[in-house]
This record gives sequence, C-alpha cells and structure tokens, in this order.
Amino acid sequence: MIMNSTKDQIQHSNATDGKPPVVRSASSKKCWNCKHRTHAFKVGKLTHYHCMSPTYEKQHSEGVAISPWETLRVFSDSCDEHEFRS
Ligand SMILES: [Zn+2]
Repeated sequence: MIMNSTKDQIQHSNATDGKPPVVRSASSKKCWNCKHRTHAFKVGKLTHYHCMSPTYEKQHSEGVAISPWETLRVFSDSCDEHEFRS
C-alpha cells in the first residue's frame, strides 16, 4: 500500500506540471506584505516593488551604489530580510 500511495503522489505532481503551486497562506512572506517595500508600480501585468531591506538601507547610507535591478521585486517574491507590515 505504501508503494501505491507513492506512485499516486508522483502522478499527481506530474498532473500539475507547468502550473505554479497554489498559494494558500495569506501569511506567507511575500514582498507585497513586506514592510521594506516601497510604493508599487506596474510593469506589464505584474506589480513590482523596490525592496529596501536593512542591508540596502545600510549600503545606501554608506554611499554604496545599489542597482535598481538589485532591489526590484515582484509582488509574489519573498526576500531574506522580510518583515511583515504592521
Ligand atoms: Zn521584501
């Protein structure tokens, strides 16, 4: 029976190939609920933010040039220094 259920799981995961996993948890760490994000702007159909995490803030205050591409996030991204907005 264990063998059978393993086989079933493999078939199920194959069936969802090509589709992103469904996001169920509203409390997952995403950039749209990150307190470090800046104002939202749209690029095409996707909402983007710049994520000014403490690392970038520190670099910025030290005069380090930060590429906008480095801080760019899509709403569904999650970053290492995520903190929930209060
Ligand atoms: Zn973030």
